[in-house]
Amino acid sequence: DPSICSPLPVLGRDVTVPLVTGGDVTYAALDYAASAPALQRVWDDVAAYAPYYGSVHRGAGYLSQLSTDLFENARRTVADFLGCRADDQVVFTRSTTDSLNLLARVIPADCRVFVFETEHHASLLPWQDSRVTYLDAPRTPQQAVRTLERALADRDPYGPALVCVTGASNVTGELWPVRELAAAAHAHGARIVLDAAQLAPHHPVDIADLDVDWVAFSGHKLYAPFGAGVLAGRADWLRAAEPYLAGGGASRRVTRRTDGGVDVEWHESAARHEAGSPNVIGAYAIASACKALTEAGWTDLVARERRLVERVRAGLAGVPQVKVLSLFGDDAPRVGVISFVVEGWNSSHFAAALSAEYGIGVRDGLFCAHPLVRTLLGTDPQTQGECGAPEAAPGEKSLNAIRVSFGAGTPDEHVERFLAAVR
Ligand code: PMP
Repeated sequence: DPSICSPLPVLGRDVTVPLVTGGDVTYAALDYAASAPALQRVWDDVAAYAPYYGSVHRGAGYLSQLSTDLFENARRTVADFLGCRADDQVVFTRSTTDSLNLLARVIPADCRVFVFETEHHASLLPWQDSRVTYLDAPRTPQQAVRTLERALADRDPYGPALVCVTGASNVTGELWPVRELAAAAHAHGARIVLDAAQLAPHHPVDIADLDVDWVAFSGHKLYAPFGAGVLAGRADWLRAAEPYLAGGGASRRVTRRTDGGVDVEWHESAARHEAGSPNVIGAYAIASACKALTEAGWTDLVARERRLVERVRAGLAGVPQVKVLSLFGDDAPRVGVISFVVEGWNSSHFAAALSAEYGIGVRDGLFCAHPLVRTLLGTDPQTQGECGAPEAAPGEKSLNAIRVSFGAGTPDEHVERFLAAVR
């Protein structure tokens, strides 16, 4: 039903860009997986608040108090958006990358970490080499669960463990079996953090219902501008650890010792990991986006995006030279993130042509998921990275891919223009 939920108004709808073929065209932003355009509603909220912002948690002045209220309300809005449990904490960070690095710093010293090699580098890399086990790419969701179960059961010693897994792949858009992986983790005495950078903008995420221990996501992919992100979940490990950053805001009491040093008593709340003056506008923008998506209604948003996904899949399937990349098979459910290669084309040249000749912005490369993309392309694990990937000779495998991604603000015209351009 094409009338289902028209696109949500976003910034940049009227931006025009020049074409090498002459004239201008409105820009078709089809790189939502990297950064989504901000919702107009979020921008309006931020603009309305901007004249009033002040320092959080510090000042007695009216605007400082107002900002503190907005910051703490933003925390509650995010907690509601994620369906947090009563004792969960919501920590404002800079991004998903920052959130996962924070978690890597607070896990117990003897905690083993289990990560599929298919993860985004933000989930793959923050863990200390000596404690992480990389799991081979599964080819079905069921195989993912079995692989994880086996690895957790075999760990030696059978101590604390953390699983880090994506909710939706930033390469294939495929949904991962989060609920089943969480059940497997818990059955084996492990905890699990969900990288929801690509899931949260496309799908409701309920931390209690999925039964995951933490969720991480980024504001700039969730239709909010500004450098803010979230780590939400279990408070105990967060409270027990040293602060992620040492400084003001994280410390409750600092006293000079008789031997000349200082003693510090750190906050037990989320502020423990938010040292420095917090990004109150970023947090406010995230909260505004959470409200806007909830009010738009997930049922409509998901239905509309599914229609666009089907349209793109069907359109690409009609071009024989196009190969869509998939780990779990063509019919696997996915969000609006689709990567592909085009036989006889260098992916970077193809993406450049979409931009220069059609005003379409997509991404090319290995999408900060080098092991996954190489597995999907079937190229040598040692192949050069996305910067300067050499052109594949005729008949050879592509060395990188093209990614088209879209969401709540995408008009049908962008998708149709993209398909016509590919054809
Ligand atoms: N995880 C996934 C699945 C992502 O797609 C991204 C961003 N491409 C990240 C983590 C990192 O997000 P950020 O760059 O906002 O830290």
